[in-house]
Amino acid sequence: MFKNKKLFQYSVFFLVFTLPLFMQAQLIHQIKIIDGTGGSAFNGSVRIIGNKISEVGNLTPRKGEQIIDGKGLILAPGFIDAHSHHLQDLQQNRDGLSTLNQGITTIVTGQDGWGYSMDTLAAMMNRIPIAVNVAAYTGHTSLREDVMGENDVLRPAKQDEIEKMKSVLEIELKKGSLGLSTGLEYEEAFYSTRDEVIQLSKLTAALKGRYISHIRSEDVTMDDAIDEIIEIGRTTKMSVQISHIKLGKKSDWGTAKNLIEKLEQARKEGIDITTDVYPYTYWHSTLRVLFPARDYTNIKSAEFAVKQLFDPSQSILGVYAPIPSYQGKTISEIANTSKKSEAQTLMDLVAMASDFKLKNPDYHGSIESITAKSMYDGDVADFILWPHSVICSDGNGSGTHPRGYGSFTRILGRYVQEKKLLSLEEAIHKMTGLTAMNLGIEGRGIIKAGNYADLVLFNPETVIDHATIENGKALSEGIDIVWVNGKIVYNSGKSTSEKPGMLVKRSLK
Ligand SMILES: [Zn+2]
Repeated sequence: MFKNKKLFQYSVFFLVFTLPLFMQAQLIHQIKIIDGTGGSAFNGSVRIIGNKISEVGNLTPRKGEQIIDGKGLILAPGFIDAHSHHLQDLQQNRDGLSTLNQGITTIVTGQDGWGYSMDTLAAMMNRIPIAVNVAAYTGHTSLREDVMGENDVLRPAKQDEIEKMKSVLEIELKKGSLGLSTGLEYEEAFYSTRDEVIQLSKLTAALKGRYISHIRSEDVTMDDAIDEIIEIGRTTKMSVQISHIKLGKKSDWGTAKNLIEKLEQARKEGIDITTDVYPYTYWHSTLRVLFPARDYTNIKSAEFAVKQLFDPSQSILGVYAPIPSYQGKTISEIANTSKKSEAQTLMDLVAMASDFKLKNPDYHGSIESITAKSMYDGDVADFILWPHSVICSDGNGSGTHPRGYGSFTRILGRYVQEKKLLSLEEAIHKMTGLTAMNLGIEGRGIIKAGNYADLVLFNPETVIDHATIENGKALSEGIDIVWVNGKIVYNSGKSTSEKPGMLVKRSLK
């Protein structure tokens, strides 16, 4: 291409010194910066060149750069959602309003044991560009379904199957997956042995990945489930994170501090255990998790669920394919109409859903789901305040649970501004720098030169969530401008048409 060496050298010189001039430069000034490290807010400016932050400090505008007047608002790193289910919706709603309206710029997928391979994700993001970044764990359940067959997972894996899972997992980790995720409470993984999980965890640790888990129980056998994740951390010495920590059994309400004490003991022993948490007292999942012993036709278990595991008068069916008109109704309302007890109604709903699945093998999508009131807000606050917990949404873009649109702004509006339970700097740290550190994401989560320009400009006094159970898609207030990889993707309640989201890979250095 180059006739002589000199011409080549001139060309390199030209490119190196003029490239930044061609890349879009932006200066965000008149702002208070909260940089994500947990340190205090400070006045300053941030310069973006291309997709990265180039300078932070007292900066003077340069000729030709775009100036953004921050009007004294807060500039923070874009929020990282430690446990997200938004990806599917982002395939259709590529502008990512559900995430951007709450300041999220990176979602962490592959949660609860299910996820896509890194190649599939890369192809997906190439084919259908989206507004936000995506990082991913490799799902244990997905590995089981691949190796054991989708309809043969209600049993422990055999050793040769574990070996096959290991070889797939190894490939994924080498392609930049953050680590191994499990969803041990769900039937498709519930029958795995602790040894199976530990074998896969050891491989993950050897390749410097991490472990994140929807633990085996969030209610009746929670002690065992906590022991299991602590043992995984102890045996493998890798960082382990409990997904969406909660106390889902009424008789455990008010004991979050005891559980935190147990986690602190583990940390003192040198186990790097952390958690993520969302700010709501109700979860959203399948009706089947209300039967921890998987005995769906046992009235005693159904009665226990009604008394201890959820409040039927405040718990609402999300989707219900067998009788779509049940959607949006509480379990108590359905029980009243059918003149049966709430426990019997719960059993009937599960039975009708299984029957529907059998009769409609080609039906894709969710057959049933419930938004179940099952937590005590004092516990939720204690978990949010634990210094080693980070914020997640556990949400999606369907609007079936308000967490999909409002988790992060709810923390800023209600826990910081209204209740004053934590400082703005602490809250931001739990949404950015600490999250990146817990999950092993590099180059994001902190405002500093050289990092990707994922940023959120917001008003700390007006920021608040508006999504509710009745209107799960209501947009938050107070999030002014959101940048992803240097591009403005959201401005004053509207998304721009930019789709700069990248696949975020674990650093393999
Ligand atoms: Zn989960």
